[in-house]
Order: sequence, then structure tokens, then C-alpha cells
Amino acid sequence: MKDIRLVYILLDGIGDLPHPSLNDLTPLEAAYTPNLDSLARKGAMGRVISVGKGIAPQSDIAVFNMLGYSFKDGSYVGRGVIESIGCNIDFHDGDLALRGNFATVDDKLKIVDRRAGRIIGNEEAKAVCKTLRESIKFSDSDASVALEPTVAHRVVIRLRHAKMKLSDRITNTDPAYYKVDGMGIAKDTSGDMFVQKSIAEEDSEQARTASRMLNEFTTQAVQLLRDRPVNRARVAAGKMPMNCILARDSGNRYPIVDPINKKHGISVGCIVDMPVEIGISKVLGMKMFQAGDINAYEEKARVAAKSLKSVNAVYVHIKGPDEFGHDGDARGKRKNIEDIDRRFFGTLMEELKGGATIVISGDHSTPCLKKGHSDDPVPLLVSGSMVKQDGSARFTENYGKRGRLGLLMGADVLPAAIRMVG
Ligand SMILES: [Zn+2]
Repeated sequence: MKDIRLVYILLDGIGDLPHPSLNDLTPLEAAYTPNLDSLARKGAMGRVISVGKGIAPQSDIAVFNMLGYSFKDGSYVGRGVIESIGCNIDFHDGDLALRGNFATVDDKLKIVDRRAGRIIGNEEAKAVCKTLRESIKFSDSDASVALEPTVAHRVVIRLRHAKMKLSDRITNTDPAYYKVDGMGIAKDTSGDMFVQKSIAEEDSEQARTASRMLNEFTTQAVQLLRDRPVNRARVAAGKMPMNCILARDSGNRYPIVDPINKKHGISVGCIVDMPVEIGISKVLGMKMFQAGDINAYEEKARVAAKSLKSVNAVYVHIKGPDEFGHDGDARGKRKNIEDIDRRFFGTLMEELKGGATIVISGDHSTPCLKKGHSDDPVPLLVSGSMVKQDGSARFTENYGKRGRLGLLMGADVLPAAIRMVG
């Protein structure tokens, strides 16, 4: 094993823009972060465009890039496939997997909330999926659907046709994303949005059948969920009903990529929670370490430090900041960053005692003002005794801009970090 010890932390949606509720500072700038500050002083900074200039990426393709994998010319299989792998849905080439959101719509299919208020219990999600699984009847008797709820508003849909390989060349029913080269790209979501009809993007029976199945699924789901007990209970409790599923990022084949250890020539493990990151880890053959639930920051830090006994590098994905960005809650994001600084980085530095290089970045920016992902570069810090310092004093967007590492593409970050310490 090479003599490399690296902890690579991606803070989901960490990048942001100045916000009026924080005196025109970004959440990173406004937060009290003594541990991140100390890491910044012992390292060098830069900025990262995770996927491509002008692209506001979703987490799946962003994380792939941040782990060294960029996909060219439509070769990416789509988030639906990655999430279905992440949640162990039975998926074969020719099935069509999609990422779904439980959403709230009105009678005219105008979207009231893309995530049905986001507060969704696992039992509620399971009840909705069970109803749909048992009651949806396609006009084509060879068509079937499988559904798996994952976390909160997230669900995975797998369409299957008994006699035909389905095409993934169909448009989303979710109006907040469109597809470019297999990647889901976030749209500007200000203004009214309606559930979209899926359209075949190529002239083939496989695409027409796939889009028809998705449209039948979507229409029937709205009818079936209109007056279910789970939704009556939600409305009575002042919550938004889960009366629609928005689907996006269709994919119809299993991804073929080099395992991550082969790609980088070192062994890489991970600590991840969400189905999309679990799916990526499985696809890349990463050793997964269990470290409590999504908010178990101290445990994640302890397990990360310990994992370096068996792997050269460990990738830790911390989901928190992104959710506050989506909610437009800049003060919440600042508080979450302070939590992560104290509980995760505080513990990590104590455990490592300087015995490893720490690389910190994000998968994309989720500015609170935009309530969604943006194409703004994210800060990058490489910190450790083998790194030449560049005078950075804090882990912020502005120090990233001035840092000596400059502007990197996502897929170059890990190779660059390995070169710096190898
Ligand atoms: Zn993300």
C-alpha cells in the first residue's frame, strides 16, 4: 500500500452567494468555524467547477466528477439508475430507472411543492408506494412498475416491459430538470411550474413505449393518491399531501466504469448515507464504512480517521448544507456549518493529530438566494503538513478565489491532491 493518508470531505451544496440576512456574507463567511479556519491556515485553496462551465449539476454527476469520473457525449447512465443501485432495486439493462420526488400538485397539475413539504415519514412513503405498486394498471399488459422510497421526498421508479428493452431517450415529467447528455441539469424554478408530459426524444417503439408508460404511471398516480388516508392524515396535520410523483433522469443500462482503486492507484473507501452516493460507491467498488445516521458527525469523523488503517483515502459525504440551500435558509445553513465545524472537523482533527491530509470541497453550490443548485464554483482546500501554505485564513468562497490552487475541474481534484501528497 502506498504511503498516502487522505480524508476527502465533500460538503453537499456548500458553495453560496452573499445573503442579505447574513449582512451580505455567505453562510461560510458568516459562520464561526475555528477548526476549518485552522485547516485553511495549514493548507492551500482553490475553486472547483465540478462538472462543466455553466452547468448547475445534480449531486450524482457532480460526485462522480469529484471522484475523478467525467462522462462524455451521453455516456452517463442517469441518476435513476444510480439511485436504483443504491437502494437495491432489481435492475437490468433494458429496464428504465428514474429518480422521483413525492410532490404536491393542485387540480390543474400546477406544482405547489416539488417535495411535498420535504417532511415525509418512511411509513407514509411506504404506504404511497404500496398503493401505486398494487393499483397502477398499464394499458399494455407487458408493462410493470416497481417503486422504492428512499429518504424523505425521494423515491426510485423502475419501469419494465416484459418483451422490449425500454429506451431512456424520453423527457422528464419533473419540470425542474432537463437532460443533457444523460445528465440532469437544474432549471431556473422561479415562476409557476406544471407536471410535464414525457415525450419520446427519438423515433423508436422503445422510446414511445417508455414515455407512454411514464405518462400512464404519472396520471394514475395523481388519481390514486387524491384521497388516500395517508394524505387525509397529512392534510389534517397541516402538512402537504403527497399527491404526485415527479420523475426525472431516466436510464436504461448498468454503468461500466473503472473501479476507483484502479483509476487512482490507491485504495479508496467511503462514508455515505444517501442512496445516490451509496449507488456511486457500489458502481466504483468503494469499500463502505458504516458511521451512524446522516447527522452523526462525530461518529463519521471517528470512523473516517480509523478507516485509514485499511485504505489510503476515505471520501466522506456530508449532506447537511444542501438542504438549507434548497430551503433558502441562510441562517440555518450558517448554523449547520458551525455544527459541522465543531462536531465533525473538531473530532476529525483530534483523531488524526495531523497524521493525514484533509481535502475539503463540495459537489456544487446551492445558494440560498436561488433555492437550488447553481454553476458557481465551490471552494477547495487541501490541508496538511505536506502542503505548501498559501496564506488562506478561512475556508470561504473568497479565499478559494484567491488561493494558489486556482480553478480546477472536478475530475482533476483527487488526482491533484494525490500528486501533492504522494
Ligand atoms: Zn449535492
